[in-house]
Formats: sequence, structure tokens, C-alpha cells
Amino acid sequence: MDLSNSPQIITMTAKDFQKWSSNFMVETMKATGVKQAVDKITAPIWSWGQRNAIYPLEFGIACCSLEFAAAYGPRWDMERLGMIPRSSPRQADVLLIMGWLSAKLRPSLRRLYEQMPEPKWVIAMGECAISGGPWYDGYNVIQGLDTIVPVDIYIPGCPPRPEALIDGMLKLNRKITAEQKGSFLD
Ligand code: SF4
Repeated sequence: MDLSNSPQIITMTAKDFQKWSSNFMVETMKATGVKQAVDKITAPIWSWGQRNAIYPLEFGIACCSLEFAAAYGPRWDMERLGMIPRSSPRQADVLLIMGWLSAKLRPSLRRLYEQMPEPKWVIAMGECAISGGPWYDGYNVIQGLDTIVPVDIYIPGCPPRPEALIDGMLKLNRKITAEQKGSFLD
């Protein structure tokens, strides 16, 4: 490594040097084409891991969340598909919203979404989350989750049965396969 082009590293703290050297490596790999080659090989592996270990953050506000609970009971047992609910946005990659959304919830919901690490996806389960449902014209009801955060999968029904939730999750699985988001060196 030729350090004559980067005299500032002599005065760096250990933390700054770590960041600088990491960026330097990535830039070098980008410039030489190594990054593209590594990403091409690792993207399918990342995608495989992401789609087979989906950790949803359940945000259940109303009756649809009972169907979510049923889906994790012994009859449907969604955990067997690698979908394990989390209670922290930092540990989740799917935001799963059920129930009608009031205007007062908008900032909290947006904050939850922003606290989730990339890559992340959003599912709207039930008519209320999709469009406001039976209360769509309520003075304080938001007409659709997609007015707050981008939605990837819509699961219609009032309420959707556990089979519909599993079907929605499998659709997300196919979407993740097609997108192959994220890469080893980002
Ligand atoms: S879609 Fe139907 S079941 Fe689900 S929260 Fe709304 S009213 Fe309840």
C-alpha cells in the first residue's frame, strides 16, 4: 500500500484508521473489479440466508393479530418455515402490520421502520392495514399503511386466515430471491 498519497493517516485515531482502511479496501476492490466478482458469488448466498430466516416484527393493533398468533400455534407452526418473530426492530427484517392505523400512530410506526436495519421489507396484513378497512373514512384512520412506509406484500382478508399469512410470507420469500438485496462488501 502506498501511503504517500494519504499523509493524514499518521495523525488518525485507531477508530478513524479502521474506517479509512475499510473504505480504502472497498474502493480498491471496486476499482479493480474484485468487488463485482465477490458480490456475484456471495449475493445468492446472502439471499438464501435472508429468505430462509425471516424475522418479522409483529405490530398487531387489532383482531388480525389473533390470526398471526394462530399461525404460530401447533396447527400451522410458522416457525418451521424459519420465520421467527422478534420484539425489537433492530433484530427484525420484516415489519408486519395488522389492524387499523390511527393518525397518532404515524410517527411511531415510521420510527420503527427506520430503526430496522437494511435490507428490510413490509407486509400489510388485512383490509385495515391495506386501506383502513371498515373504518376507512374515520376522521382519524389512515387509509393504508403504504401512505407511511413502502409496502412489499399485501395480504387481503378480514381477517386473513393463517394460510393466507403463510402464503404472503412465501410470496416475500420469492421476492427476496428475485431481488438478491445486499452484498458481502457493502
Ligand atoms: S381487517 Fe378485519 S379482522 Fe383485521 S383488524 Fe381489520 S377489522 Fe379486524
